[in-house]
Amino acid sequence: MIPPDHPRYRSLLVRERLSACAREGIVALEGLAAHGRAEAFDYLIGETTTNTARLAARTAAALILQASAPVLSVNGNTAALAARECADLQEVTGITVEVNLFHRTEERLAKITDLLERHGVRVLGGTPERLVPLSHDRALCLPGGIGAADLVLVPLEDGDRCAALRAMGKTVVTIDLNPLSRTARTANLTIVDELTRALPLVSEAYSAMTVDEAAALAVGLDNHYLLQAAITEIIRGLERALD
Ligand code: ATP
Repeated sequence: MIPPDHPRYRSLLVRERLSACAREGIVALEGLAAHGRAEAFDYLIGETTTNTARLAARTAAALILQASAPVLSVNGNTAALAARECADLQEVTGITVEVNLFHRTEERLAKITDLLERHGVRVLGGTPERLVPLSHDRALCLPGGIGAADLVLVPLEDGDRCAALRAMGKTVVTIDLNPLSRTARTANLTIVDELTRALPLVSEAYSAMTVDEAAALAVGLDNHYLLQAAITEIIRGLERALD
């Protein structure tokens, strides 16, 4: 039992949740390592949403609004941490949700789908095909989902798949606390923020967005600037710590 007055209460709760999901086979053990990397970057970024992350979230909403077939690609960590936020995003935007796993087994797919559905997500079903140009099982996706998508929102992604999706001509939007990752640098748009903070911002921005506003945000998209701004935030935080 974690005492609610513990200074790192939320972070410990999240760890407990991820560990429980790992024991259930929803989160891969490798996913726990990925979470550790994210925690470190969240510490560096001040565990808060920066103004540029807000701009990135609004731009993500704009791109989703403009897309004709947007898909949210969900892995084990995303389902474990943010099933409810995925349901909310789908409710607001109508985005298609597909489960896509690096450590893919039918059993894990079923468990993650079940978790998402229990939180109100409508998960796309069907027979996967090797459509993404990758040698491992992340090549598998649904022809009517990621296969046909013009935009893929892939939180907590790995760089190879991000590049492969771009090579297929898709717009890739990611959420990644590490502004130095290959994913962050390869995506069309990176929201450098924690997943459960970022997804509600995208939903909120989408609800209030007009077509004109979306067009202006899309034209103004500069991922290099967004990543530089995140790195600058980290540097400033470190400088403050040195004072
Ligand atoms: P790349 O291949 O892009 O260089 P990587 O090897 O770090 O990235 P993974 O190990 O798959 O890729 O990790 C996924 C990424 O997701 C990490 O960069 C991590 O910072 C990020 N991440 C994990 N959990 C969260 C979270 N809750 N919120 C935001 N980002 C997260």
